[in-house]
Amino acid sequence: MKAALITGASRGIGAGCALTFAREGYAVGINHRSSGQDAERVAEQCRELGVEAEVFAADVADVGESQAMVEQFVERFGRIDVLVNNAGGALRMPPGGFIDMPTAYWDSQIALNLNAAAYCAQAAARAMVAQEIAGAIISISSIHGDVTWVRRKALPYSAAKAGLTMMTKSLGVELIQHGINVNCIAPGLIHTKALDRYSERDLTAFNRKIPFGGGGEPADIAELAVFLADKAKSRFIVGQTITVDGGQSIDGAIDAMLDDAF
Ligand code: NAP
Repeated sequence: MKAALITGASRGIGAGCALTFAREGYAVGINHRSSGQDAERVAEQCRELGVEAEVFAADVADVGESQAMVEQFVERFGRIDVLVNNAGGALRMPPGGFIDMPTAYWDSQIALNLNAAAYCAQAAARAMVAQEIAGAIISISSIHGDVTWVRRKALPYSAAKAGLTMMTKSLGVELIQHGINVNCIAPGLIHTKALDRYSERDLTAFNRKIPFGGGGEPADIAELAVFLADKAKSRFIVGQTITVDGGQSIDGAIDAMLDDAF
């Protein structure tokens, strides 16, 4: 049975990926940092789909914890076919903007949204190459890796997500010689708990500005992740970042949003 490890899978897009890979018959590893009960619930739902599932608690922003997690995953399932670097999130810039920004804020946002993906990808690639597994490494970026997020002042988040795109290009070229496909997905607004911080009014305004007619669901991202992991369908897609945003980031649409929302 093929095995997929998904970081930050206790809820949201990560949980959506875990369930979609489980539905495709993969054994799944569900990583979380602090939401153990939620992660166990996702694992149980995966088991009900007839696959093996295991929870892995680790702070992926910590190099020791993330690399140990990948090793434990390989020990548990005997292999790793797919890594989805999903854990991440944006914290708003503290008051004062970049000029007064505490460097600890910068460091923690880069650690979670960029370094973690590199640590996990390195450990997963080592395991895949050692076992000659032509696997897949998929990272979840954001449209804000390409389009600024001025209202939210999420500068390091945007910088980290842009870094994921470049990491994906370079790693894609390096690892394809081993048959490992590295790609990235850049979601727009996806309905998850991460949006709880916004007021109903802002969200309604934001949803209205998306050409599709509203935000997406975790499954919209998860289905593409499964496709990118399936060599029979996606073997010629190498080092790409694919935007999945209902048209949100297309010129004009994003400008209109920045005027009215948040
Ligand atoms: P979410 O609902 O807030 O879930 C985040 C997940 O990541 C949780 O399972 C959380 O578990 C885990 N996590 C956070 N920090 C972690 C750490 N240091 N180590 C391990 N796990 C950690 O987020 P989401 O909306 O599903 O977003 C998932 C990804 O998509 C993120 O990379 C985000 O930047 C990206 N994205 C989301 C949207 C959107 O609109 N939702 C748009 C663009 C991009 P714990 O609670 O246990 O920490």
